[in-house]
Amino acid sequence: MTTLHFKNSSVTLPAGKLICLGRNYVEHAKEMKVDAPKEPVLFLKPSTAILPSGGTIVIPPFSRELHHEVELVALITRGGSRISRRDAMEHIGGYAVGLDMTLRDVQADAKKKGLPWTVSKGFDTSAPLSSFVTSDSVGDPHNLDISLSVNGAIRQHSSTRFMIFRLDEVVAYISSIFTLEPGDLLFTGTPEGVGPVNPGDVISAEIEGIGSVIATVGPFAGAR
Ligand code: MG
Repeated sequence: MTTLHFKNSSVTLPAGKLICLGRNYVEHAKEMKVDAPKEPVLFLKPSTAILPSGGTIVIPPFSRELHHEVELVALITRGGSRISRRDAMEHIGGYAVGLDMTLRDVQADAKKKGLPWTVSKGFDTSAPLSSFVTSDSVGDPHNLDISLSVNGAIRQHSSTRFMIFRLDEVVAYISSIFTLEPGDLLFTGTPEGVGPVNPGDVISAEIEGIGSVIATVGPFAGAR
């Protein structure tokens, strides 16, 4: 079981389900050559995908194309279903910096065949995560500088203000489908600038007022 830790609180929580938004920044939807969605695009990762900051991302043997995606991660600390937009923010008790590591070749193949993204998104180590900060220590979560660098070179740099669906709407929408429980994590989508990383690369991602996550890319295990 993966335990979630705070930087500024002694509270710990077992990680629940990881509910992720796709295409939640207009410029990222554009670079993926898809339209900005009319309602949130959701997929899940298992909690076993979490990799503590400083770990190594293990590329499965059936992939040769690993992409980075930096995302604001919201932690549910109060459960519920059919949560209203008005109450939504009271269910979020913390924030972290997360990476939604993606096997882009496997995902492209799944898209072509109309198959789910689960394998390309949910493999072990696909969700490097910083420690959490309590939500009361973060100002407006929709106005934070968000960036990612690879070997010290900036690849993604944007602001959470460009999210299409904001957290209150996201919590209301998700909780109309999935019951939320304490320990569940919401990955809120990535801004533009996604791209490949290679074995040995060091990925460092940061969100203003929250912290940073670092991960190293492991070797290719084999060819497809
Ligand atoms: Mg993503």
